Amino acid sequence: MSDGDAELMDAACALLKRVYVEGRHEVVAAMRLADGSIQLGVHVDGSARRSAVCAEGVAAGNAIAHAADGSPMAVVSIVSVLRRAEGTLHIIEPCGVCAELITDYWPEARVWVTAADRLTAVAATELLPAKRLRRW
Ligand SMILES: [Zn+2]
Repeated sequence: MSDGDAELMDAACALLKRVYVEGRHEVVAAMRLADGSIQLGVHVDGSARRSAVCAEGVAAGNAIAHAADGSPMAVVSIVSVLRRAEGTLHIIEPCGVCAELITDYWPEARVWVTAADRLTAVAATELLPAKRLRRW
C-alpha cells in the first residue's frame, strides 16, 4: 500500500473512531481525489432501512461538491472501513449499489477490499464485472 493510500485509510479510521455509533454510523469511506485531497463520508443509518445512506455515497457527494467549478474531479483511490461493535476495524468492499455509483462516476478508481483475509486493491470495474454501461 502506498503512503497516500495508507493516509487515506488512516483518515477513514480516525473519523470512524470519532463518529461511531452502533447501528447508526458504523462505516466511513474515504476518497482520494486527483488533486490529492481526501473526501470523507459517514454511513447514516435510519429507522427505516431504505432511508440509510452508505458512507460511499456521502463521500461521493463530497467529492463532487469539492470541485469549485462543478466539473467532475477524478477519484483515484477509495477505502471503506467498518467498525464492529467490539471495536475492531475492517476494510470492506462497497455494497452493490455503491459499486454501481462508483463505477458510474469513477470506473478507473482503485478500491481497497479484503479478499481471502488479505487487503488488496482492485479497479472499481472489477467490483461489477458484468456491469452494463447505461446512458443517463
Ligand atoms: Zn453502499
